[in-house]
Amino acid sequence: QAKSQRQGGYATYHPRMHEQLLERVRLETDLRRAVEQHQFRVVYQPLVDMGTGGVNGVEALVRWHHPERGVISPVTFIPLAESTGLIGAIGEYVLREACRQVAAWRSEVPGAENMRVSVNLSAPQLDDPDLVGLVTRTLEETGLPATSLVLEVTEGVLVDQHEAALTTLNALRGLGIRLAIDDFGTGYSSLSYLHRLPVDILKIDKSFVDRLSDNGDLSLVDAILSMATTLGLATVAEGIEHEHQRSALAAQGCDIGQGYHFSPPVEAADMPGVITAALHTASSRGAGHLEHVG
Ligand code: C2E
Ligand code: MG
Ligand code: MG
Ligand code: MG
Repeated sequence: QAKSQRQGGYATYHPRMHEQLLERVRLETDLRRAVEQHQFRVVYQPLVDMGTGGVNGVEALVRWHHPERGVISPVTFIPLAESTGLIGAIGEYVLREACRQVAAWRSEVPGAENMRVSVNLSAPQLDDPDLVGLVTRTLEETGLPATSLVLEVTEGVLVDQHEAALTTLNALRGLGIRLAIDDFGTGYSSLSYLHRLPVDILKIDKSFVDRLSDNGDLSLVDAILSMATTLGLATVAEGIEHEHQRSALAAQGCDIGQGYHFSPPVEAADMPGVITAALHTASSRGAGHLEHVG
């Protein structure tokens, strides 16, 4: 306490800032305990083929089940996990659990035979010299083929990368894993820079999908989609909430959709039902889409 007062210029703190600092310290203590006591769970959101309506993959999304506060969003605790170094243990858990779970669905659930899983990676994980080893071991242990794993890295993180991280990304890709740029359009990557990144999939940020109002302007999304085509990248649109957004994106050639319009993230136990419902919709409609499952 005395030490932090000297270092932080405590006298100039507003009481509200003091309260926020205390809250941060409390959350950090709780987060350490959460890692020891395994308070994390993974939920899954379907990635839907815009052409057939089938579930072609899932994104693994972590949740913290805090014993007193209930479910805490990753938006709140991932930044804290990154700054405290706890992201390594949390990320390792999510990767292993997601690979194990999707390998099980692939062998047990009709329609899930070729399902892929996307796992989010934070910047500090990319700096870990053992990341390639961890991913290799995890694939071996869970039996998931490397080609069925997608690792998502945000555009901002990719733009900041130095040589060592690029070497890691290339080594991951060498295993057969695919890399996706997450939240595309929110960072500052130039076309020439993107061209040099070892990525396979571009995920269009929800903010662009939001702008596709009923009589809205398609030009921005159109530009992103044609750029992706030029670079040979597959495209995923994030945060599709309305049918008109789905149909506009599908008409412009976007490959995959993700969003509440198809399904919110669901508990693992509910995913087989979501896959089965999508399978029925896909087969009964031919090239139709999946309506409000889950
Ligand atoms: P993200 O990777 O861009 O994931 C998509 C987020 O959008 C998820 O939020 C998802 O629930 C939400 N979403 C999907 N469809 C819709 C929609 O139609 N409308 C709206 N409003 N939201 C939608 P979530 O699960 O809260 O995760 C937030 C972010 O936290 C993720 O963004 C990702 O950056 C991070 N995150 C989640 N899980 C992990 C993890 O295991 N590791 C790391 N490093 N980051 C994670
Ligand atoms: Mg993501
Ligand atoms: Mg995203
Ligand atoms: Mg996003």
